[in-house]
Amino acid sequence: MARDRVVTPEQQSEDREPAVVQPEGGPALRPVRMAEYVGQPDLVERLSIALEAVRQRKETMEHVLLHGPPGLGKTTLAHVIATEMGTRLYTTSGPALSKAGDLIGTLTRMSEGDVLFIDEIHRMPAAVEEYIYPAMEDFKVDFTVDSGMHAKVITVGLKPFTLIGATTRAGLLTQPLRSRFGISHHLDYYGTDELLVILHRAAEKLSMSDVSADALQEIGIRSRGTPRVALRLLRRVRDFAQVRASGKVTGKVVVEALALEGVDDHGLDELDRKYLRSILETYGGGPVGLEAIAATMGDDASTLEDVVEPYLLQSGFLARTRQGRCLTSSGYELLGASAPRDLFE
Ligand code: ADP
Repeated sequence: MARDRVVTPEQQSEDREPAVVQPEGGPALRPVRMAEYVGQPDLVERLSIALEAVRQRKETMEHVLLHGPPGLGKTTLAHVIATEMGTRLYTTSGPALSKAGDLIGTLTRMSEGDVLFIDEIHRMPAAVEEYIYPAMEDFKVDFTVDSGMHAKVITVGLKPFTLIGATTRAGLLTQPLRSRFGISHHLDYYGTDELLVILHRAAEKLSMSDVSADALQEIGIRSRGTPRVALRLLRRVRDFAQVRASGKVTGKVVVEALALEGVDDHGLDELDRKYLRSILETYGGGPVGLEAIAATMGDDASTLEDVVEPYLLQSGFLARTRQGRCLTSSGYELLGASAPRDLFE
């Protein structure tokens, strides 16, 4: 279900892009240098200071933990940091590190100052996490060879490196792991103005020459504060404009193209609206528990919690109270219903 949504912040195959401009692979939309990274001003400032300081001291950068919803630029920042330090980036993810050997293999291959990016670090198995502590702290790994009487612990020294961990669920990280990161920062949703800058640059890189300012504005407000969604909507609009509007992208073309995809002028799609409608129609606007909504919709509660609720909460159509989920006055308005007089917000 969530996989087919044009507004999902999770990465889809159509979003994959090369890290650098490849002669045959089309343009890379990812920013390469820190100066090109749009938005997240506090984080960019913290990282720029840290990068400058370690450059002056000729040291490696501290380990960095980035947390926040998907599609906001965590992976992009890892690429940017490696580029700024002039080192290589190795990428992996928590679920891919099923055995400690996978991690040790990569760690021993890395050169001084290289960056190891672990996406979804909260899903790293506990057995692998044990190996990461001494690697992060003392740049060494201990592993046991043989077993029983002949077991021997061998310590292997590593070159100083920077670990960048990314997670959408910082709360699931163990305290010992979390405390080993020197810098920990939450990424926020982007404002429409920031998305406009990203969209403008992307339109140029994609050689879209006939795009009006209000077209980008219309895409921006439907992008759910998420660069990945903005870029995906831009690509869909580009296809639509090429086939239906001789390549001319106007505000009207955007509205038509995205209506065809089921995306309304708040960036909500059919699944979001179905979720809000179930609360209104079956539960009188709430409060109602997530499990009950999931049962009404015939959907999985944790999927709804991960992929539908964050944006509805963020955009103020939904509230989460101790008694359960309820529509806000904007939620009622969106569905064309009038809010009860005693609505508490
Ligand atoms: P995450 O790792 O948080 O899921 P990504 O780093 O993969 O997100 O970003 C998703 C896409 O959005 C990337 O392809 C990148 O081109 C774009 N993007 C993300 N953040 C920015 C930004 N600050 N400036 C410009 N483009 C961005």
